[in-house]
Amino acid sequence: MQFGRTTLSKFVIEHTRAQHAELGALLIDVAAAVKTISAMVAKGALGGNLGALDSTNVQGEVQKKLDVLTNEAILRHCEWGGQLAGMVSEEMEEAYRLPEQYPRGRYLLVFDPLDGSSNSDVNMSVGSIFSILQRSTAGDAEPADYLQPGDRQLAAGYAIYGPSTMLVLTLGDGTHGFTLDRESGNFILTHPGVRVPDETREFAINTSNERFWEPPVQRYVAECKAGRSGVRGADFNMRWIASLVAEVHRILIRGGIFLYPRDFRDPAKPGRLRLLYEANPMAMLIEQAGGAASTGRGRLLDVVPQELHQRVPVILGSKHEVERVERYHREYDEGSDQPFVSPLFSDRSLFREPG
Ligand code: MN
Ligand code: MN
Repeated sequence: MQFGRTTLSKFVIEHTRAQHAELGALLIDVAAAVKTISAMVAKGALGGNLGALDSTNVQGEVQKKLDVLTNEAILRHCEWGGQLAGMVSEEMEEAYRLPEQYPRGRYLLVFDPLDGSSNSDVNMSVGSIFSILQRSTAGDAEPADYLQPGDRQLAAGYAIYGPSTMLVLTLGDGTHGFTLDRESGNFILTHPGVRVPDETREFAINTSNERFWEPPVQRYVAECKAGRSGVRGADFNMRWIASLVAEVHRILIRGGIFLYPRDFRDPAKPGRLRLLYEANPMAMLIEQAGGAASTGRGRLLDVVPQELHQRVPVILGSKHEVERVERYHREYDEGSDQPFVSPLFSDRSLFREPG
């Protein structure tokens, strides 16, 4: 037994003491929800909660039973404490209004209760993602209160339910990982001050969408795949787990770059991932760990949201690689990537005017 270990509660209380004692209380409720979800998903088929429902969520995606149950878990654990003005979830079209009987605070909790939920049926890592913002006064939040750039997040984090359950958190002062000790029920600080290496030889992208990508992304991936024989002069490895949480976790621990870029498969969707509760919290965690997060054409945390469930292109991870992808976008937009004459990219208008 190690009595000197730093629990999540101790860490959060110490780091929020100055101005934000209520923020600490909220984070402890979030951690309680995460423990509930961890136990729920760990039961697998024995819990009777795998599989899909007949319903679809606001994104038009088929809801899994676990999507709904995990959403409920976070609402119930966090709505009562008096810290919140409201919540927004991937699984709810409208912002959640707190039940009348509970006091109101000024914090806003936005979350993806179960990220990568299609992975749960095949016993692979899933996660929960959350972000905390604030409004100026306590009271019921208006939808507009949530439309703040990610730069204003007070805290962000995710839980990953893998072989072990971890909670990875930033309060704007580094990114820190806690591992759930299932015997004591405590999250223990095991990964203080995580740092993403600046360099990497590992990229993650869904290449089945390659034909819909913009030329700068095609260029970047083609160069990675060319390996030692190409302009990069080095071999790269590809990873794809199809779970944002798992991809970001790997990148935080050992570096890498993750891309879910803008594509032309569905012109109405300028990206796949949701800005408020997927991209922004991950961008803050990555930046706080020394990495970078971009849309390809600007810093992710500077994007001003227009709607709750807005989608956004996401390119994040090791700094030098993200900067390279941004440069390729810039060169493409300026037309200065002309020396890049692979026949694949020669017809620029093909990508400018998707048919
Ligand atoms: Mn998700
Ligand atoms: Mn989800």
